[in-house]
Amino acid sequence: MSGALNIAIAGGGIAGLASAILLARRGHEITLYDKAPQPLPVGSGLIMQPSSFAVMQRLGIFDEIETKGQRLERLAGRVLPSGKMVLDVSYSALREDAFGIGIQRDILYTALLQQAIAAKVDICFSAQIMAYEQDGPEGVVLFADGTRKGGYDLVINALGAQSPLTPKQRRPLEFGALWANLPVPKEGWFMADGLEQRYFKAEKMAGMLPTGKNSNGQQTVAFFWSLQHKDYAKWRATPLADWKREVIALWPQLATSLDALETHDDLIMAKYFHRTLFQPVAQSLVAIGDSWHAASPQLGQGANMALIDAAALDASLASAATMRKGLARFYRQRRLHVYSYQIISWLFTPFYQSTGNFLPLLRDKIAAPLSRLKLAQKLLAAMVAGVLMKGR
Ligand SMILES: Cc1cc2nc3c(=O)[nH]c(=O)nc-3n(C[C@H](O)[C@H](O)[C@H](O)COP(=O)(O)OP(=O)(O)OC[C@H]3O[C@@H](n4cnc5c(N)ncnc54)[C@H](O)[C@@H]3O)c2cc1C
Repeated sequence: MSGALNIAIAGGGIAGLASAILLARRGHEITLYDKAPQPLPVGSGLIMQPSSFAVMQRLGIFDEIETKGQRLERLAGRVLPSGKMVLDVSYSALREDAFGIGIQRDILYTALLQQAIAAKVDICFSAQIMAYEQDGPEGVVLFADGTRKGGYDLVINALGAQSPLTPKQRRPLEFGALWANLPVPKEGWFMADGLEQRYFKAEKMAGMLPTGKNSNGQQTVAFFWSLQHKDYAKWRATPLADWKREVIALWPQLATSLDALETHDDLIMAKYFHRTLFQPVAQSLVAIGDSWHAASPQLGQGANMALIDAAALDASLASAATMRKGLARFYRQRRLHVYSYQIISWLFTPFYQSTGNFLPLLRDKIAAPLSRLKLAQKLLAAMVAGVLMKGR
């Protein structure tokens, strides 16, 4: 496509920043709006999968992510009280040199933000978006303070899982999780090169994800503990020591690590959503990342999907004769990968986060033995790596 577009990017998270960088480098005029009052690197750990490595290289952030992050070789999960391994996936089953990267979310955010600044993206903070309107061929963005900004050839909806521009709003999934950053345990039990989880049926789940260095250069691990939203108030009202005893009963080696948590405020309750828009393109508005396809982070794909969407949108617009054709190409290119993972995530999540006995029994007695077969190992590794149905 020849000619620069005037583009508004709604949301400066992973998808928004990545698309801002790529489209600004093409010469488009980009304004990015985010409701945060200032750059806000919040949250805990993420797994970057092989599926997004090429995009991170294009963005110019891969070397930093690889250096600061923790190389991950495998994902493992044991069920309690037996301690039997019911999940054991190695990236090497996919390709000998394949790996994932555990990273602190603020490291990824800051790397993207620096590239966006270098690409001269006009970034507006404290800009809460409420709605979108179509005005002839142009897009108009409406803000919480009553202002309207129009004249955009394209508006990119990158407002995340609770985007007000996405028509189908959903309530959070029944289960979310408490997250905290902890220092890396010194004891020998800790799996420094993989994500390790413990399950009690599918009702309780604890995880330790090595996430490399934080912004102070200290090695960290992201700890998570699944919790139903309805139980959050009760959890806050219970002494932290009682909860620690519950965690330690499930995973005794965590005793020393949990000393780092002094109050309930040291843990953040994350909400998870599952929602898929069947058509991300509506005239001059296109949804990417979680605003198109939000899913529980059980499979560790969302940030990777957001980066891949951003790169696909940029490439589709660049290679098509018109913007409309570029948007249609973007949808065609991404739909199989996106919808496949939405279905896989929807099917898999209840095996790890739900109440009842049947699904965890099926997981432990049928799925776990089958998953040790060589073909299943390869398939699981491809699924975790994010490359199933991805195309080029
Ligand atoms: C606890 C947790 C763990 C996760 N772990 C992983 C993992 O291991 N691997 C992985 O790949 N993914 C993981 N994910 C998913 C991943 O974080 C998301 O898929 C990813 O952040 C989506 O990027 P996005 O840019 O679409 O949305 P977001 O990153 O949510 O960005 C949305 C942006 O929009 C802004 N915004 C929102 N509403 C408004 C508004 N009205 N006006 C203006 N601005 C607004 C927000 O401030 C934010 O900056 C995890 C998610 C959670 C919650």
